[in-house]
Amino acid sequence: MELVSSNPKQKSVSESQWLDWKWQIQNRIKEEAELEEYIHLSSEEREALHSCAEVFSFSTTPYYLGLADPKDPNCPIRLQVIPRKEELHVRPWDRRDPLAEESHMPVKGVTHRYPDRALWYLSHVCAVYCRFCTRKRKVSQSFGTPGLEDWNDALEYFRNHSEIKEVILSGGDPLNLSDSKLDYLLGELKAIPHINQVRIHSRYPVTLPMRINSELCTVLRKHYPVYLITHFNHPKELTPLVKERIEMLAKEGAVTVLNQAVLLKGINNSVETLTELFYGLTKIGIKPHYLHQCDEVFGSSHFRVPIEEGVEIMKQIRGRISGLSVPLYVVDLTGGGGKVPLPANYLEETKSSSYVFRNYKGDLYEIGF
Ligand SMILES: *Cc1c(COP(=O)(O)O)cnc(C)c1O
Ligand code: SF4
Repeated sequence: MELVSSNPKQKSVSESQWLDWKWQIQNRIKEEAELEEYIHLSSEEREALHSCAEVFSFSTTPYYLGLADPKDPNCPIRLQVIPRKEELHVRPWDRRDPLAEESHMPVKGVTHRYPDRALWYLSHVCAVYCRFCTRKRKVSQSFGTPGLEDWNDALEYFRNHSEIKEVILSGGDPLNLSDSKLDYLLGELKAIPHINQVRIHSRYPVTLPMRINSELCTVLRKHYPVYLITHFNHPKELTPLVKERIEMLAKEGAVTVLNQAVLLKGINNSVETLTELFYGLTKIGIKPHYLHQCDEVFGSSHFRVPIEEGVEIMKQIRGRISGLSVPLYVVDLTGGGGKVPLPANYLEETKSSSYVFRNYKGDLYEIGF
């Protein structure tokens, strides 16, 4: 298999090490000196690496960093993982916990906002810390990670609340757990009669695709059906290794894979980039599900795209590509209001016995009722 990486380090590791997810985790890059072995840091990046260290940890897998352009600081991979000084800017709307997840927490590690769904945070660790992370208030810190006792409390809570139809394993990254722990958790959840479906939210298919291996697929297949929502933001992330492992998830793991992306300024806020991303995803068997407006988490205002711009981009995409490849653009309301769709408006006028629509080309059509 072709290894996609421009990084010099890869030459000094064997292919089996490189493809071992634990090797990738153990050899994560966290320091400036290591980073400079892969890319040429700009002075701004070097400065931000130090000034932002207290605010949110820096870490990346060698694999993911290998996708970065060593020369261009505005490379979409670099912008997602390397701190920028704007992270220190605090805007009036920015929140530590924009989605009020901590205040909808009946037991430690569970956010139960919508009556029928519960989000369960199983780990505070991720292989890569995304600079725009909504949970940067706690992700990357081992402090407060739910332990085994909390897991039992959470399972008891799910068993006692028959209105819960779905549990979403989240984090941090839930695929950071061992296969045997995942097997245990999925088994316990699937044994609860009122649980209709179980979903995993993970960025490991993007940042650590070697995590998807035959052992994991055996566990996921055993608990069929399992839905996995991943988080690709840019077509550069769709590598041959990703393609191989997503195919493995579907064929060996019998997993249904969907994607949620975040609309990010300077990374993917164009019709061309998102078209390539959405078509690239469906090409390898992933259904684009959501495109999120970037949450109002502290230090992320430099990533935020105006909602009008997002709506306009999605309107143009809708007319250009297959409906199967088009996700729903949504905003998760600051304060815990939940997700709201951000559709484009095509209805131009409502008359007494007809409606006037403007289609994706800008032409008017009148239909009766
Ligand atoms: C996003 C979210 C969900 C899942 O919502 P879907 O629209 O079903 O993807 C569930 N619970 C919480 C707290 C959420 O933020
Ligand atoms: S993978 Fe998810 S939880 Fe982890 S840092 Fe990125 S956005 Fe945050």
